[in-house]
Amino acid sequence: MSAAKDIATELPRPIGNGLEAIVGQRVAVQALQRAIERDRLPHALLFAGPQGVGKATTALLLAQALNCQSIGPTDACGECISCSKIARGIHPDVVWIAPAPRIIRIGQIRELISAIGYRPHEGKRRVVIVDDAHAMPGAAQNAFLKTLEEPPASTTIVLATAAPGSLLPTVQSRCQTLRFSPVGQETVRQYLEQQMQLPGEEARLRAALNPGSIGGALAMDLEAYGTLLETVVEALRLSQHGGGGVVAAADSLANNGYGETATQRAASTLRVGRDVLRDLLVVTSEAEGAGLVNSAQRDAWVAWGREVNEDAVIDALRALNVGIERFTTGIQPNIKMALEQTLIEIGGALGGAGQRVAS
Ligand SMILES: [Zn+2]
Repeated sequence: MSAAKDIATELPRPIGNGLEAIVGQRVAVQALQRAIERDRLPHALLFAGPQGVGKATTALLLAQALNCQSIGPTDACGECISCSKIARGIHPDVVWIAPAPRIIRIGQIRELISAIGYRPHEGKRRVVIVDDAHAMPGAAQNAFLKTLEEPPASTTIVLATAAPGSLLPTVQSRCQTLRFSPVGQETVRQYLEQQMQLPGEEARLRAALNPGSIGGALAMDLEAYGTLLETVVEALRLSQHGGGGVVAAADSLANNGYGETATQRAASTLRVGRDVLRDLLVVTSEAEGAGLVNSAQRDAWVAWGREVNEDAVIDALRALNVGIERFTTGIQPNIKMALEQTLIEIGGALGGAGQRVAS
């Protein structure tokens, strides 16, 4: 089917060493391997867990293991013809569906259902992977229900999602749920340094900025982050000096950041601000043991730290966390006003009573 070709570029980075190489998901991986060993792998699985912790990669490796011509079915060699075709997204019996670009259309689901009506072409087992399954609107989920209930013979369906609660209860109840955990920051750092061979400082920074998520740490654009960091620092400095600068600072935050929606972008700039204030707290509290997130900026933080005291930074962090909540509680705020309000509160903390007397 054509969908497989369209989405091949979206496949997660294939890993050569099989399921055993999945980092930080031992419980989920062993549960899968035990089920395969006992020939009791459910026909429909729901991989639930945060973004970027390996759900889609595990689904792909499961597909490889079940079809591996060398060491399957409880693990994959990563090298045989079957494993290699699956990694490249060209195996006829492994179907990958993902949002195109934001939702999974009912047409994609109908196309899928008709394509899996036949026996597997060349593999031992057909595997259907629906990534970001929560992106299926209700109608698409409903269209999929009957297939989930009685999948065609020799077919395993995996729904991967960071938001299982967005799936209809009828969909959830037809799948066996497997939980994926956040991955520890140190585990992410080690993986980036040892397996992906990134330089030590880069691995540390990527892990620090993407707690719990190998996928997020790998995908992050560090150059864009550097630019955003400068913008956010400037906005915080403007807010510290008060006056009309706050309006300009809120403008600049509203026009930057990551994410699909304006609300997500605003929240992302405040999260970068949280990293900045945490670093400022480390230097003002002289907590030598606590590492800096952005340690390359140490000199700038130390210089800034001469202007403000620890209590002021704690108050500013509190105001900033309240600000982040304004964007993440589900109520859509007026973005500019919410950013201005947050910056005024941060500025009040940093520029007010907490200001150090020049000595
Ligand atoms: Zn293989």
